[in-house]
Amino acid sequence: MSKNFVKIDEERCKGCGLCINFCPKKVLSFSEKFNSKGYHPARQHDPDNCIGCGFCYMMCPDTAITVFKDTAKV
Ligand code: SF4
Ligand code: SF4
Repeated sequence: MSKNFVKIDEERCKGCGLCINFCPKKVLSFSEKFNSKGYHPARQHDPDNCIGCGFCYMMCPDTAITVFKDTAKV
């Protein structure tokens, strides 16, 4: 089954929240845990509703997000 989803490099993320604010489907949020820099990284809490639009990828100033569109999730 093909799916849309994103992977977020938690160590690159500085918790700015831009991806969370711009996601049209509101499927991103802050993780409760901290990365090694002391930030709450973004996470995708609802991949089933991701449309693979790439807005999060385009907004991220730290290139921490990779978007997978119509990809077989393993
Ligand atoms: S690809 Fe689009 S829908 Fe999916 S998490 Fe990113 S901004 Fe949200
Ligand atoms: S836009 Fe990038 S740096 Fe900012 S919270 Fe999202 S993943 Fe982290």
